[in-house]
Amino acid sequence: MTDCLFCKIVSGDVPAKIVRESAGTVAFRDINPQAPTHVLVIPRAHHATVADLADADPGLLAELLREAREVAVDDGVAEGGYRIVFNTGAQAGQTVFHVHAHVLGGRGLNWPPG
Ligand code: IMP
Repeated sequence: MTDCLFCKIVSGDVPAKIVRESAGTVAFRDINPQAPTHVLVIPRAHHATVADLADADPGLLAELLREAREVAVDDGVAEGGYRIVFNTGAQAGQTVFHVHAHVLGGRGLNWPPG
């Protein structure tokens, strides 16, 4: 999609601090980090929400989750624990409608989230 910020990161038209890439995904550091590790993992293909992706391409969703795990391993937060978050819909705080997994770690994380 031409007007999608994260599609532009995939194409290289918008710069990002990319930390991992796989055949179907790109992972980059969040521009406004909420934890020492805060990485977004996105599919290269445009899908608005994780619910859409689950229907359209469950194999790609599994790849995205494996990549999220590898981000945590690479950043050294896997053993201590980390959180994978998919904000889904505006009321849940989704602001970019290209599905992205937030990978958060490196500090204690409260529950329930705000
Ligand atoms: P959402 O609120 O769950 O949709 O998450 C969107 C995330 O994208 C937020 O955490 C933003 O800080 C992040 N973000 C927005 N623009 C950029 C960018 O250009 N590079 C990296 N992260 C971004």
